[in-house]
Amino acid sequence: MVYLFCGLFGTALIAIIVIPLFRKDNSLESAIIEETEWDLLLRKKDVILGNIQDLDFEYKCGKLSDEDYRKVRSEMSTDVAAVLQKIDDIESSHDMDALIRREVSARRGGGKKADRVACPACRAENPTSNKFCAECGGKLKA
Ligand SMILES: [Zn+2]
Repeated sequence: MVYLFCGLFGTALIAIIVIPLFRKDNSLESAIIEETEWDLLLRKKDVILGNIQDLDFEYKCGKLSDEDYRKVRSEMSTDVAAVLQKIDDIESSHDMDALIRREVSARRGGGKKADRVACPACRAENPTSNKFCAECGGKLKA
């Protein structure tokens, strides 16, 4: 009974997130787009975290003023919080399909298009475009 409720709630939640964005689609297209939405969120998270790391690095190198750094940093934090919230919503919805897709995606190394590189320090997967690990901040490339 609890599982049934979670399942229904999860489906409703996904629908609430996805339907307004892709109102015109038929069911087959919606299924594809739902997967894209999930991949997109994960990729977006990686990109923003990578940008934050680059920003922190540039700030430490003295390339940015305190004012610029704080302004851009808080914008990025707001962006990443919104993305993480959406990812949380999907995860907490008990949508097994989404969780399985995430596992498969992680095993594949992050999907067909995005090239990924494992952090030498913590093994976290990062886009190859990142200079620093999104998890631990370690340097990814020599
Ligand atoms: Zn790392």
